[in-house]
Amino acid sequence: MHRSIAIISALIVLNLHQSLDAQLTGYWQQNVDYDISVTLNDVNHTLTGNITMLYTNNSPDELTFIWMHLWPNAYKDNHTAFAKQKVLTGSTDFYFAKDDERGYIDNLEFSVNGTVVPLTYDAENPDIAKITLFKPIASGETVSITTPFRVQIPKCFSRMGRVGQQYQMTQWYPKPAVYDKKGWHPIPYLDQGEFYSEFGNFKVQITLPENYIVGASGDLKTAAEFDKLNALADKTAATTLTETSLDFPPSSTTTKTLQYELKNSHDFAWFADKRFHVMRSSVVLPESERTVLTYVYFTNQHKEEWIKACDYVNRSVLFYSENVGEYPWNIAQAVDGTLEVESAGGMEYPTITVLGGDYDAESLDNVVTHEVGHNWFYGIIGSNEREHPWMDEGINSYYENRYMDAYYNRGNALGLPTFILDKLGVDTNNVDNVQYHMYQTMARQNKAQAINLHSTDYTMINYGVGVYLQSAYIMKYLEDNLGTDEFDRIMRKYYKTYQFKHVYPEDMKALFEAETGENFAWFFDMIINDALGPDYKISKFQKGKTAMAVDITNKSEIPASFSVSLMEGDSVLRTDWFRGFTGSQTLYFNYKPEWNVTHLKIDAQRKMPESERENNTIQTAGIFKTIEPLQVKFIVLGVDNPDRTTVTVSPILGWNENNKFMLGLGLWNAAMPTPAIDFVAAPMYAFGTSELVGQGSIGYNLYPKKGFINRLRIAESVSSYSYGTYQLLTTGETTTIFPQYLKLQSKAEIDFRKKVLSNKLSHSISYRNVFIRENDAFFSLDDNGDFVESYANEYMVNEVAYYLKSPTTLFPQFLKVVGEMGDDYTKLSLTYNTKIHYPGMTKGIDVRLFAGAFLGEAGDDKHNFTLAGNNGYYDDLYDEIYLGRNTSDRLLANQISLSDGFFKVPVYNYGLNSDNMLAAGNFEFAIPKVPLIGLFADVAYVAPGTAAENLDAFQYDAGVMIRLPKNIFAIYFPLVMSANLADAFDPETTTYSDKISFMLSLNTLNIFEIIRKLEF
Ligand SMILES: [Zn+2]
Repeated sequence: MHRSIAIISALIVLNLHQSLDAQLTGYWQQNVDYDISVTLNDVNHTLTGNITMLYTNNSPDELTFIWMHLWPNAYKDNHTAFAKQKVLTGSTDFYFAKDDERGYIDNLEFSVNGTVVPLTYDAENPDIAKITLFKPIASGETVSITTPFRVQIPKCFSRMGRVGQQYQMTQWYPKPAVYDKKGWHPIPYLDQGEFYSEFGNFKVQITLPENYIVGASGDLKTAAEFDKLNALADKTAATTLTETSLDFPPSSTTTKTLQYELKNSHDFAWFADKRFHVMRSSVVLPESERTVLTYVYFTNQHKEEWIKACDYVNRSVLFYSENVGEYPWNIAQAVDGTLEVESAGGMEYPTITVLGGDYDAESLDNVVTHEVGHNWFYGIIGSNEREHPWMDEGINSYYENRYMDAYYNRGNALGLPTFILDKLGVDTNNVDNVQYHMYQTMARQNKAQAINLHSTDYTMINYGVGVYLQSAYIMKYLEDNLGTDEFDRIMRKYYKTYQFKHVYPEDMKALFEAETGENFAWFFDMIINDALGPDYKISKFQKGKTAMAVDITNKSEIPASFSVSLMEGDSVLRTDWFRGFTGSQTLYFNYKPEWNVTHLKIDAQRKMPESERENNTIQTAGIFKTIEPLQVKFIVLGVDNPDRTTVTVSPILGWNENNKFMLGLGLWNAAMPTPAIDFVAAPMYAFGTSELVGQGSIGYNLYPKKGFINRLRIAESVSSYSYGTYQLLTTGETTTIFPQYLKLQSKAEIDFRKKVLSNKLSHSISYRNVFIRENDAFFSLDDNGDFVESYANEYMVNEVAYYLKSPTTLFPQFLKVVGEMGDDYTKLSLTYNTKIHYPGMTKGIDVRLFAGAFLGEAGDDKHNFTLAGNNGYYDDLYDEIYLGRNTSDRLLANQISLSDGFFKVPVYNYGLNSDNMLAAGNFEFAIPKVPLIGLFADVAYVAPGTAAENLDAFQYDAGVMIRLPKNIFAIYFPLVMSANLADAFDPETTTYSDKISFMLSLNTLNIFEIIRKLEF
């Protein structure tokens, strides 16, 4: 950081030092010493035992009750906070779990100092209860709280649980909630959202069948077992593991009792499996020269990778000890286990960590390091993870990135293969570059969230991108600001000050201010609470002989420190960091006369969490000081370089039945983050028709930061392909014509802002004007029978649409209302989609309801409501992509689209559509345990009209379908159909295959549309 402003700080330093000392003097925390003894029954999957907690009230307050966490009850039923969150995040495994797969804690009878006390469950959360004390606990007093308990161990749906006879005992015993300076913190167990517990000492005694191998928090005090474990590890090291079986051997009929002790900890976890291999090692800590034993436990499934895992534990214990502070415990361990937490690779507990899933060597090291690192940022420094997840995940991810940079020369927190990142144009040298692009994209679309939110306020993607990656990125910014040495010095002080203590962001701020003598409100009050970050703008450049001056304006209220670089092209000549300010200031730079400074740039190294970066550069020469140089890339779905207008060029191939093979050039600009103006052009030469075809669009994207509109897009698009192949019989010869259509569309879309970003419900509206010109739509023959002229059919349609999306897990709903106005008709339609689960199952019935009606006269019959989904002819706005539009090819002609009545019988005869009104219901039945195959049934009511006068009002069909997810592709085999439909197939000229239809929705694969919306 720029250090020239230390003059004012002398006084502040003094004050801050005093206030920090005062704060630590007044600091208090409760102490809980546990003595737990349990027995595992691996037939009934239960744990029975007793717990004694010596609870010391170090608060200045008298306590009349204590909140208890009974977290095994999170797995009790579908009404727990955990169960509800699982559903919210899209998982139905627990929701549809059988009763014998769930878990709970019971047999509780709490006594305080020997007297039984009442236990009252929280009305909302069965995993939180209050014990009421007959005699209040005075400040400074210690009481003994005891209870017997039994845990029914659930299948593994999250962290605690069993997988066969592998037991992961985490969050398994009754435990007081934290009482701190902010009061009580009773919190239900959650998947997304971690923990906060009181420190104390643990004595744990576990009885279980003799042949289990156990990895547990703390020191194993049972000497015979310790020897046995070491002998096992030495045997594993000396032999080559050839076994591949994952079967569980029978359990011994005899049992053993293991004793563990752990001091200064806020949790205790253990893992038991009869199949575990063990490896052991140790490291000597550099400062105290104390030895830390390291162990890893794994099954045959991942033995190749895990055999080396002790090295990773060793190296990470040393890395964190050196960079943060010495590891305080005697043992560090990692377990190859199972995790069912949304996209989580591992889970940390004091001195022991569990990893789920498959890893190669590097990613295993990466995850082991992350989880071992949590011993520091969670285990030793006990921040409130539920309310401030960045303080453990973010800070820990920052050190994890440093570790990966040190040992692999790159960060890889995303786990994305390098070749993909290279293709995206992302510099993979460090993870911060990857995060930079992710953050820019999210921020541009108003989808970024500040890093200091409560864990339950995050969208699923932001719990990863925000809490882990963006927090790490922001910590790196803090490091760059202070310089690595100074940052490390302060973080070591942070570690020493808050080791075995609770800490909040304001405490961390006070410490940084005391240590530096600077005001850190801009960081700890503003940066971490702001999703968009500061916005510095550079303007008004003046140049002298050896110095230059620029005006910098902070358009935000965050006086974040920033850097300015003198640049020659892409090379940085000089970078200076500045203390942040609000408003405007003129900054001066010295430069050497021989330097050819081409421009000045704010944050050239992309260190700042600044989302608006278009105003960061000023050219020092030329009249177009703000224009971006052009950069052309080949075959890259590019990330945006804010200094370049990036154009991507790629050869493209296409095919349809009418145009045959098409070859052309695709041109588009960068996709991430969505640029203000985007374009795609795909002109192609069609070899079948010898004509120029293709499509293109140019769009303007606005993401207002305030108000009810979250996204506004205005786009012009054009497309032109052949829409048929017609044979014209003229005198003596056949002429083939390939009539071509031209579509011009102007469209405006508005997505309304959600009140809460993590809300599922969203609304949007759109308006478009579509002009269609069909060349050679009409043709005539002269007296000689020659084809003489053709002329075009033209029409224009205006369409207004409203969309409601509520993609919840149990009851997803989608509504679309469309009004379409042509020259001579107006029609209205409504489509509603939902899913009904079979009782107790994830699978179910996909339901689509459609109703459409003409208001008054209907126009040309191609605008009619079709009973079958539209085909090439009835797709009047040329929205769908057909392999053979209007083709006579039997196979390709049976492509239908998800529209109108969506019957799976490909009939488009006159009369099987309506110029009046059509209502239909489409039902797709999934078959339990059978993937891809389903049953369909459709019913429709067709109102009598000119077109439908000979039709029965009620129509139906049903059959079997093969489908891919997300309505991308499906094939339909009708088995029954109403009489009018059956009559459409002349038994003389048709076969069953003519009745088979397919749907191919290529529009759903539009990558540009997906990136523009990022709907996670
Ligand atoms: Zn973590």
